[in-house]
Amino acid sequence: MQTQNLPRHIAAVGFDFDHTLGIDNKLERVAFLRLLDEGCDRGGRCIDTLSGEIERIDALLARQRAGEFTIEHAVDIFVSQRGMPHADRWIETYKAMCLDMVAAFVIPQPDARRTLATLRERNIPCAILTNGWSPLQQLKARRVGFEGPVLVSADLGVQKPDAAAFEALAHAMDVPLEELAYVGDTPASDVAGSMRCGLIGIWFDAEGASYETGLPRPSAVIHSLTELLALV
Ligand SMILES: [Mg+2]
Repeated sequence: MQTQNLPRHIAAVGFDFDHTLGIDNKLERVAFLRLLDEGCDRGGRCIDTLSGEIERIDALLARQRAGEFTIEHAVDIFVSQRGMPHADRWIETYKAMCLDMVAAFVIPQPDARRTLATLRERNIPCAILTNGWSPLQQLKARRVGFEGPVLVSADLGVQKPDAAAFEALAHAMDVPLEELAYVGDTPASDVAGSMRCGLIGIWFDAEGASYETGLPRPSAVIHSLTELLALV
């Protein structure tokens, strides 16, 4: 663990979800592939090889996750391109598939449950701020045993690294920005985004990623979630 200018008092902790508290094993990619499989049985068609379709799905999801359009619009684009009529029904099918897959696909970080339980015992308020759509992100959070508030970008109308997302988190937790720590794996959207908003940015470096130059340095770097317990 490395620390730098770490304030003495952390009153509350916000968490990123994906690749911080848990992983979803590309659940949404698989849901799109299942949608395609059903669609081809009902008059739709593939527009590429299967591996090409996977690349197209990943590119579509990347654009959606960057905030370019909603998940509903992503499904609409996907089914329209493949001649699958009644987009509204496919959107509902897609969402239901994703929710059904959470129990099997979502795996907690090995020390997530223990860390969250210890923070609860210490009466340190915790919340999740995550980019994605509801209720998928809420269900993923519950799957790893998280019991606190889950703020989802599609509901907020704004997503990380926008300062308004972190302000919404501080407001929901009723803590000053400077006493709120935010833990996440993505340097630009989690750490730099939260620090630019005045939060205590903690980088969860568990997957050997590099920290881009030019971004504000994190207040602390942890390599396992339990290391967080030494900071609060
Ligand atoms: Mg993440």
